[in-house]
Amino acid sequence: MLIKTILNKIEKFKSFVYGKITFEQIGGTKALVVEVKPRQNAKGICPKCGQRKPTYDRQPVRLFEYVPLWGIPVYFRDAPRRTDCRRDGVLVEVMPWAEGKEQMTKTYMIFLSRWAKRLSWKETAEIFRTSWDSVFRAVKYVVEHGLKHRSLDNIEQIGVDELQVFHGQKYLTLVYQIDKGMRRLLWSGSERRVKTLIRFFREFGAEHCRRLKFVCSDMWAPYLKVIKKKAPLALNILDRFHIMKKFNEAIDEVRREEVRHLREPGQENILINGRWVILKRTENLTDKQVVRLKELLKTQLLSIKAYLMREDFQRFWTYRMPDWAEKFMEDWAHRTMQSNVVPMKKIAKMLRSHKELILNWFRAGGELSSGVVEGLNNKAKLTMRKAFGFRSIEHLQIALYHTLGNLPEPKITHRFC
Ligand SMILES: [Zn+2]
Repeated sequence: MLIKTILNKIEKFKSFVYGKITFEQIGGTKALVVEVKPRQNAKGICPKCGQRKPTYDRQPVRLFEYVPLWGIPVYFRDAPRRTDCRRDGVLVEVMPWAEGKEQMTKTYMIFLSRWAKRLSWKETAEIFRTSWDSVFRAVKYVVEHGLKHRSLDNIEQIGVDELQVFHGQKYLTLVYQIDKGMRRLLWSGSERRVKTLIRFFREFGAEHCRRLKFVCSDMWAPYLKVIKKKAPLALNILDRFHIMKKFNEAIDEVRREEVRHLREPGQENILINGRWVILKRTENLTDKQVVRLKELLKTQLLSIKAYLMREDFQRFWTYRMPDWAEKFMEDWAHRTMQSNVVPMKKIAKMLRSHKELILNWFRAGGELSSGVVEGLNNKAKLTMRKAFGFRSIEHLQIALYHTLGNLPEPKITHRFC
């Protein structure tokens, strides 16, 4: 079977045919070069109006990289025509296999982007002997197509979250759709400011905002204000993930203060390396860590008190009725205010001042699954870690949309991988 026959089966273009196929030296390696030429009497398509127009002239020959065969690079070779359109002028014709000035064919870009979903971009570039930048451009092409063609209908639940990027120097604001049937990254914007979230709502559109039923978010005041203004019909919920994160920050604050104190001469320092033991939920501890936790619990340390206060608060989430949950929260806050653990007292005050939004969790009546925002946040962090080699926020945003956006892919006739 000839390669041309296979190509005609997997990648056939209307108005173009495959010509000669040769084995040539391209960029220092042997490659298969497939000639592509216009079908006889078929005119080129003007890129502006999409209509067939007479040929003005031909451009120099160009190579377009295609999916490799048996580890051998494959290129399409064509001298694109320039169409002479009365309305739009002289322009380079539409080539169905490529886009603009890009040297890679669309199919090859989809191929690379599929691998880049499974491997890191660096590994993908190494395996297919291409550059990191080519992998980035391939993923970007697929992501941009997906963002343009995705549907934003029927979105009722969203979660607003943030990600610390580049060693905590910067933030990305992330907005997820958290509906039962569809969980995905909807939007990302650099920084964590009022402006950022306003930008999301503006791009999302007033029509879609009106359909929102629940918005989960952190209790950051500027966010709460924007949500109230832009999604007035939605129930704003301070979700479990974001609240428990505040507890962890408080525990860590207590612990750090105590470690500093214990470093003073004459004190036995048992808290060093204890950070993970007290930040973890009990069920996630290893056997060795459980022993260590038991030792820690025998002491009178504030860190331990803080830890126990958090464990005590976990019961809050088991309530069904908002009234009972409220009563529990009030009792917990009362107990905590009588303690001497200052960061925990701050938490108690914070819970009290955001009571209504927190109780909205119970008013949503179990419609929201507790782990969704947390799960997406973990995946986002994993993408960031795997993405080793990201040079800018833009790279990271493209990677996040790629892995978490659940985006529709450009259609191709053959599935390569
Ligand atoms: Zn035209």
